[in-house]
Amino acid sequence: MTHPAYTPASSDTPSRRPLSPDTGRLGARAARAWTEPMAVRPLERGRYAVDSASGATYVVDLFAGTCSCPDHEIRGERCKHLRRVAIEVTERRVPPPGRRRADCAVCRRPSFVPESASIPICDDCRLERGDLATDRETGDTVVVYRMTDEAASERYVEAADCTVAAYPKNEGYPADDPVVEVVYPFSGDPDADIEDRPRYAFPRSRLAARDEMLIE
Ligand SMILES: [Zn+2]
Ligand SMILES: [Zn+2]
Repeated sequence: MTHPAYTPASSDTPSRRPLSPDTGRLGARAARAWTEPMAVRPLERGRYAVDSASGATYVVDLFAGTCSCPDHEIRGERCKHLRRVAIEVTERRVPPPGRRRADCAVCRRPSFVPESASIPICDDCRLERGDLATDRETGDTVVVYRMTDEAASERYVEAADCTVAAYPKNEGYPADDPVVEVVYPFSGDPDADIEDRPRYAFPRSRLAARDEMLIE
């Protein structure tokens, strides 16, 4: 019995490529950056500790383009440690400069989030001013005014005399969701600017992002 050849849909056919460059054709430092056993640990502000094959640990600073090893400091070469960190960032094995690894507070997927963010949010879950979203509870269309760095359990809403998390319609959403301030574009004065409209605080998960922006 013969099986028909597997013919995948064209959209999921990646082009064939090797996983690493042909290291025989690279310069010595570039080849060693790929082939030597090294461990890269992200520090803060664009710095990475590299445990080298020799047993020494060096610090690479990607913002400054420097490494603490003698090859870089004395000979001024773009050393194998600098190259290795660049490779690992490109391959998404370590976070890029200014980011850290964390589970997104909204979708819970592991992500590289901004280092300074007190609530980790992945790029897919981040909302920007002017983004359109749907209120999952009412189906209303809202426009994002800003995404805050405050948790729903921390934001007190005076009009409701409770926090955003404790507000009855929000009880099914995580209390550690970041608060998103939104406005209603299709109610009140139709000519009012986004800045002048009343703002309402929502837990992020209550809003379904839409792939559109309000053109003003
Ligand atoms: Zn180095
Ligand atoms: Zn997310």
